[in-house]
Amino acid sequence: MHAHAELRGLFPDTPWLHGGGSLQITSGADDGAALLAKINRLRDWGYAAEPMTAAGLAKLEPELDLAAIAAPAIGWFPDDGWIDPVLFAQYMIRAAIAHGASLHIGARVAAMDGAEDRITGVRTADGRHFVADIVVNCAGRWTNDAGTMAPIPLAPTVGFLAFTPPAPVTLARVLRTSLVDMRPDGAGRLMLHDNDIDRELTLDSPLSPGMKQAVRMAENAAKLFPGLAGLRPEAVRIAVRPVPADGYSAIGPVPGKAGYYLAVTHSAVTMSAALGKLIAGEIADGSEAPELALFRPARFFGANTPPIGGGAEALRHAG
Ligand SMILES: Cc1cc2nc3c(=O)[nH]c(=O)nc-3n(C[C@H](O)[C@H](O)[C@H](O)COP(=O)(O)OP(=O)(O)OC[C@H]3O[C@@H](n4cnc5c(N)ncnc54)[C@H](O)[C@@H]3O)c2cc1C
Repeated sequence: MHAHAELRGLFPDTPWLHGGGSLQITSGADDGAALLAKINRLRDWGYAAEPMTAAGLAKLEPELDLAAIAAPAIGWFPDDGWIDPVLFAQYMIRAAIAHGASLHIGARVAAMDGAEDRITGVRTADGRHFVADIVVNCAGRWTNDAGTMAPIPLAPTVGFLAFTPPAPVTLARVLRTSLVDMRPDGAGRLMLHDNDIDRELTLDSPLSPGMKQAVRMAENAAKLFPGLAGLRPEAVRIAVRPVPADGYSAIGPVPGKAGYYLAVTHSAVTMSAALGKLIAGEIADGSEAPELALFRPARFFGANTPPIGGGAEALRHAG
């Protein structure tokens, strides 16, 4: 989050970047205790997090009806926010081009060039060869399809989003609740998400704004914000999160394949600003970022061990 905020100093405008903090409202004693533990853990890491009272919540989000949630506990994360990833990526591409990068739209990597132990470039599906000191594979869920000779185990998950029409609701931040998660999506629209509903769907599920999962999310949102009553989603989207099989990011060189670097993570949006800096540093200076030590792809090739803890479980709550 700090790396994202730093971009404000580098770009004249950052229209992709939205602050406002985030709120999390859980229901019941167990989830309340888990929320408190999370707040304490984040504080230990030096990240702003605090429990919030109903009165504090009413000041931030006066239209939110807390009665919709039984035995609520509230967490407040003032430095959180959200970004518009497509806009963000395009601004970064524009800046990269201004610094001498070239952009090849629609150029699909079909194969890697080089020998068994060294990658020297890529061949695209249209037959062109690009020579490179280092090839960075950041093809998300397609990482293993992009001509790689060193696949890693992936366990991608499906994510489902619904979008409301412009609505008379003043929600101004990311809101995660036991009923539904939501955030503003511009022009008064809201984006809705529910981790449990993700598990009901597959990439092949037929999509329509009228599907029951989308309507259920809109109805739950209306329990929180009465101004949404009767509102139906106007769009839905399904996407696949690129998740390494143990749930953790895989960032770094691939052992035994000089010139080949992987950047695969579900958290590619949240971590983009920080990862961009760390990865550029490793590639340009040959330095090793200590922050990445536990997240090396080498663990899939018998070298370093993954971070301790439940990566998949942590991810289940990640959004
Ligand atoms: C419901 C939901 C909630 C999410 N919440 C968060 C969140 O809170 N924070 C967060 O950080 N992330 C979140 N994500 C994940 C996020 O949206 C991204 O999908 C993820 O971070 C991966 O980004 P990426 O850039 O690595 O991959 P992608 O965005 O998938 O980009 C991969 C690119 O590689 C290109 N490509 C593929 N194959 C080839 C090839 N052979 N040659 C050349 N190019 C190729 C593709 O065209 C694409 O442009 C969420 C996802 C979902 C579905």
